[in-house]
Amino acid sequence: MSAAAQPSSGLSLPQYAQVAVPLHLTQTFTYRLPAALQPHARVGSRLLVPFGSKPTTAYIVALLPALEPGTSLVETDIKDAEALLDTEPLLTPEVLEITRWVSDYYAAPWGEVLKAALPAGINATVEQIVAITETGRAQLIETASDGPDETNTPNARTRGLQLLAAEGEFEIKTFCLRMAIASVPKWLRDLEREGLVQRTHRTRSEPAGTKTRKAVRHLDHETSAATPKLSAAQQRVITTLAANGNNMPLARLLALSETSAPTVRGLAKKKVVEIFDDEVRRDPLESADLPAHQQFSLTTPQGEALLAIEEQMKQRRFATFLLHGVTGSGKTEVYLRAMRFALQQGQSAMMLVPEIALTPILSRRLRASFGDQIALFHSTLTKGERFDEWSRLKRGEARIVIGTRSAVFAPAENLGLIIIDEEHDTSYRQQDSPYYNARDTAIVRARKESAVVVLGSATPSLESYHNAQAGKYQYLQLPERIASRPMARTELIDMRSVFARRGKPVVFSDELLAAIKDTHARGEQSIILLNRRGYSSFVLCRSCGESIHCPNCDVTLTYHRSDRTLVCHYCNHRQPAPSECPTCNGKYIYYVGEGTEQIEEQLRARFPSLHIARIDRDTTSRRRSFEQALLDFSSGKLDMLVGTQMLAKGHDFPNVTLVGVISVDAGLALPDFRSAERTFQLLTQVAGRAGRGDLAGRVLIQTYHPDHYVLRHACAQDYSGFYEEEIRYRRNHSYPPFVSLALLLIHDEDQRRVQANALELKRALVEANQDRICRILGPAPAPLARLRGEHRMQILIKSRSRKGLRRVAEAAMRKAENLGLDLRSINLEIDPVNML
Ligand code: ADP
Ligand code: ZN
Repeated sequence: MSAAAQPSSGLSLPQYAQVAVPLHLTQTFTYRLPAALQPHARVGSRLLVPFGSKPTTAYIVALLPALEPGTSLVETDIKDAEALLDTEPLLTPEVLEITRWVSDYYAAPWGEVLKAALPAGINATVEQIVAITETGRAQLIETASDGPDETNTPNARTRGLQLLAAEGEFEIKTFCLRMAIASVPKWLRDLEREGLVQRTHRTRSEPAGTKTRKAVRHLDHETSAATPKLSAAQQRVITTLAANGNNMPLARLLALSETSAPTVRGLAKKKVVEIFDDEVRRDPLESADLPAHQQFSLTTPQGEALLAIEEQMKQRRFATFLLHGVTGSGKTEVYLRAMRFALQQGQSAMMLVPEIALTPILSRRLRASFGDQIALFHSTLTKGERFDEWSRLKRGEARIVIGTRSAVFAPAENLGLIIIDEEHDTSYRQQDSPYYNARDTAIVRARKESAVVVLGSATPSLESYHNAQAGKYQYLQLPERIASRPMARTELIDMRSVFARRGKPVVFSDELLAAIKDTHARGEQSIILLNRRGYSSFVLCRSCGESIHCPNCDVTLTYHRSDRTLVCHYCNHRQPAPSECPTCNGKYIYYVGEGTEQIEEQLRARFPSLHIARIDRDTTSRRRSFEQALLDFSSGKLDMLVGTQMLAKGHDFPNVTLVGVISVDAGLALPDFRSAERTFQLLTQVAGRAGRGDLAGRVLIQTYHPDHYVLRHACAQDYSGFYEEEIRYRRNHSYPPFVSLALLLIHDEDQRRVQANALELKRALVEANQDRICRILGPAPAPLARLRGEHRMQILIKSRSRKGLRRVAEAAMRKAENLGLDLRSINLEIDPVNML
């Protein structure tokens, strides 16, 4: 770091650093900065600090010239920081600011949020490095010039110094090994005190820094007098170079010009070319062939939407747009052009996508549009690739970030635009600590940085649509598919009558089987979807299609097999599981059974000539095979994909003309007030996979509940009809967006302790809620009442006042902490997305 970058006056050097540690601890800590670190310490850099028994990487969040007056800190209790790990801050002011907001709003430890904001692997092991100083070298030379003292073999101290002089520096353990000593010797510490050696810390970044390869570039010869005489092979090298921008990797040059390395080295000697180490990026798409960049003119609605977004971006003022466009209406094209506009304006742009949506297909489309300007973050990247993408962005080499949830913390500078594709998607919610919602975080970040937000969806979340109706968001609509392609025709198949006809439960209706056969006969493709969420945990009557609801909460009761009871997971209402249906007195009460694997097997048995692949959580743990299946399906090698909801998201397969939904009822009956919304979204999305090309699509939905309003509206592709009905339900039952929610989950191995802690918390909540600003429900068993050997109970807090909700929840947490409850056994989730 250059002296010019230092604070100008020595007096203003910070004496203390306030740091956040990446542990489940809410407070920050103060450390003393040793004199050597003071001039270099920066807010946003990492600091190695003694913490408990071992050094820990912490993040500097503030620098203090002195201890603040009135602080409870005692000078002698403050420890010295050990080392500064970065010369340049890793965390930009913007990233620090948004992570602090997340930490406050979601009551999450700042250090944990900061850790989530940095690419994994950056905090790899900390190494101690020992190196010889200039003084050390000078002294060695001095003693050597005294003449070798043959009578004495040099002592360990001198040998150590000689070894260091020969090698420059060592990792401390390697040094000890080479010196054949077990631990750091006293003489080394003496050497350090005398200033002859220096000990520093650095992180061994797993990405192993940057990767290089040999590359060749043509040196400019216009200035030099004569071009040297070249052999035919050398001439070929020059021609090949010229055809490749006069700069290319050596290996490729040799292959293309059919020469060997000595030929190129010969040219290098003549100073015609230069061979150098080129820094290469581990490019996740290196070998992928990119689709040709398509250029078409926008449709009128696309053009209007883009214009509105661009106008706002020009003003550089915060605004949120809701881009509501049916599947296949060209939303992605609008995103791409808006991002290009950001680049033209000298701004950077960010696009968040759901977890599963960043398929190789979309990635390639993006790469084809933006080339090296984009940094891609997605879950198949290795740590090294992730680090490289992050670094390119940090250095400003890339100005467009595309990624899943945590990309919202990317160090993009001069951010002008944030796009959130499929904004309703639940994967924007982080499901463990630190809990945060990337969509909502993105909106807050955009407001802080005066950027424009575009929320895009075919099925906006109720909250976002509500905000658009209220005028908080600007509403943009793409009502039609590109080229006026019709939406797929959706039909419901009443499984009650199928059951009555066959006299036994069946998985496939005749209609669906016939449709699969026809589709295949025409050489077209099909997708079979099974909605597996919450499978087999609820009861359903096969005769009337009814499931059983809680009398207080209007959610489905969950079946507990162990004691054959039905339980409400919001208010703890319980009743024995009935042997007949309370609605129609039918005897065919059952809970749903088949998984994707059985369905795949049955389909293979029925249609042996079909090439089928299955995609669900089991197979997607092997990400590469999931991507391969998508690519094979896209290229027509596969006839059918069978799977769960991940099949519904964003994929664009023009040859798919049939979508079959095996059972939709499980999802509808989930004990989550959002189950109707989720099901509507799922059906609309999956229906959107059919008929995207020139062929018309057909969607068949098997259900025991054909009159359900969700199915009716999904069939008619009628979002606003669904919205009207659903929003009324939310208003009547006090659910978001009319109230805010917080969920407290209490978990412990000991069941009695869970109960006792839950009751303590409830008492603390009631006490903090004197003004009755909140409604406190529970404690009740969590839907997963036992998980990983722990018992779980939950308390739900509802309030019309977001502030009031957080005040009550936080007061109760503080009380709990004062009472000695272990906060690690209590999770506070603000704005929970999944009630399951
Ligand atoms: P969405 O994101 O709304 O599902 P896409 O942006 O993926 O829709 O568009 C669907 C298809 O239509 C894509 O293949 C895309 O290349 C094409 N497309 C988008 N806009 C246009 C346009 N203005 N003219 C022609 N084709 C378009
Ligand atoms: Zn209830």
